[in-house]
Amino acid sequence: MALRTMDELNLPQKTVLLRLDLNVPMHHGVITNDNRILKALPTIEQVLRAGAGVIIVSHLGRPKVGDTSGEFSLSVVQQRLAELLNKPVQLIQDWPDKSFTVNPGEVVLLENIRLQAGEKENDPALAKKLGTLADVFIMDAFACAHRAHASVVGVADFVNESAVGPLVAAEVRALEQALNHPKKPVLAILGGAKVSTKLAVIEQVMPKVDYLILGGGMANTFLAAQGLPVGDSLYEASFIDQAQKILQQSSKLGCTLLLPTDAVVASDISEHAQTKVVNINQVASSDKILDIGPATIQAYQQVIAKVHTIIWNGPVGVFECKPFAQGTKALAQAIASAHAYTLAGGGDTVSAIDAFISQVSIDYVSTAGGAFLEWFEGKALPGLERFKGRC
Ligand code: AMP
Repeated sequence: MALRTMDELNLPQKTVLLRLDLNVPMHHGVITNDNRILKALPTIEQVLRAGAGVIIVSHLGRPKVGDTSGEFSLSVVQQRLAELLNKPVQLIQDWPDKSFTVNPGEVVLLENIRLQAGEKENDPALAKKLGTLADVFIMDAFACAHRAHASVVGVADFVNESAVGPLVAAEVRALEQALNHPKKPVLAILGGAKVSTKLAVIEQVMPKVDYLILGGGMANTFLAAQGLPVGDSLYEASFIDQAQKILQQSSKLGCTLLLPTDAVVASDISEHAQTKVVNINQVASSDKILDIGPATIQAYQQVIAKVHTIIWNGPVGVFECKPFAQGTKALAQAIASAHAYTLAGGGDTVSAIDAFISQVSIDYVSTAGGAFLEWFEGKALPGLERFKGRC
């Protein structure tokens, strides 16, 4: 996908409106993980070095328009950003009622854009107010690329030039390398709770990969589709037909689809659950399948060791609970030591990576949950479409 990038813009003496994803996790008003701010620093510094002034736009959480409680204020982000940049960052709270100026080399942060009416509706009136603040718009928030919001898409109509920033460009490169120009053989590992939320991803990915490993609650629907007993496990009866179709399609497409052959079962999900390992055709009516078993781990590890590209989304068990974490942990470790290009993404997948390995052992980790999945569903992302082609 050819996108206009920041390097193609003329930035000296310009005012740049920079859409970032500074939606950091907070607890009682304290940032619990500043990774998104850290990741955005090189973009801000690059724009400053080019001789421009920067107006940063971001959202935080899901506030109601006009919320005045302060709960969704970016003020904590402003403080952390100023510390990390080692320069003042003014938070503009009374925008758009009052005007302000930004000189080359200065950074300001607009208050949470989702407090403004019209952001989610991509209202041209808000997009115009944003656009008239700057000469240039740079969109560097991949996590918002699936949202046709005023500060992601509409604003580009009201500036002289626009482009994607380096974080978006890197994410698109990584996704394309894994799915569109991969080194073969390619393996996709898909897990998570429900097949209904991943069906479109499975259908899009299956024709492009040589191996598809399914795990987690989602795999139970496929087991049931093969007539296997799933006991008291999470599964979606209304998706059995579609699961059967996918099983048939996989062999036609030459994609080897792997399902668990054994499982860790228990009657409840708790830290002190009594667990059992059972063969996949011996799941009792009171059993819940909550993790893949040791034989499945071994079979999946063998595939991981022989492929050249691995795409991973979704845990293969209830990994948050220790008795059911072993499968996800073992796969994460195998992926980390694989001789393959590795790409992983999705909220729970990133949590599993942080818990069991480290992000540096995966070639590309995407923290963009919804946008990451929509890319794999083959959907056009409005926040990228707007930047296709030349300025
Ligand atoms: P998702 O958001 O669809 O990726 O699902 C992630 C969630 O799936 C995690 O919270 C896991 O605990 C859950 N999960 C994984 N395996 C199972 C399973 N066998 N039964 C129920 N939930 C599962």
